[in-house]
Amino acid sequence: MFRSMRCTHCTKCCQGTRMELCQADIARLVRRGHAEGSFYEVSEDGIPRLINEQGYCVLFDRGRKRCSEYAARPLGCSIYPVNLTEDGEVVVDALCPEGNSLGGEEISEKGKRLRRLLDTIDAEAGKRLRP
Ligand code: SF4
Ligand code: SF4
Repeated sequence: MFRSMRCTHCTKCCQGTRMELCQADIARLVRRGHAEGSFYEVSEDGIPRLINEQGYCVLFDRGRKRCSEYAARPLGCSIYPVNLTEDGEVVVDALCPEGNSLGGEEISEKGKRLRRLLDTIDAEAGKRLRP
């Protein structure tokens, strides 16, 4: 088991987010009391994405400067800052100031989880959208 990255809750990844959601994310957040359609919208490509309010994710708690659903947050949010380029290369998003605290093992493990998640999201949207 490796040590996980050090998230300082700087909030950068919760601003202007278009995080993609799988159906399991949606079902979990609905079970937590969020109404269908209150926290995501389905884009033209058929993929549900988190929506923003005044520049922040609707699930962001501005008073506490934290995710209001941290334990139940979307899988993509828990995998972040690991991301995939359009060519399918696993990278650490430069936006995250703590990106360099991830070790190689964590990047690799999160990259695999992200690939599985994106495959699921594509399948749920009924199309293949990336390599
Ligand atoms: S950008 Fe990085 S450090 Fe900042 S809240 Fe997101 S994951 Fe944490
Ligand atoms: S769900 Fe939580 S962690 Fe993900 S973008 Fe929204 S506020 Fe941030």
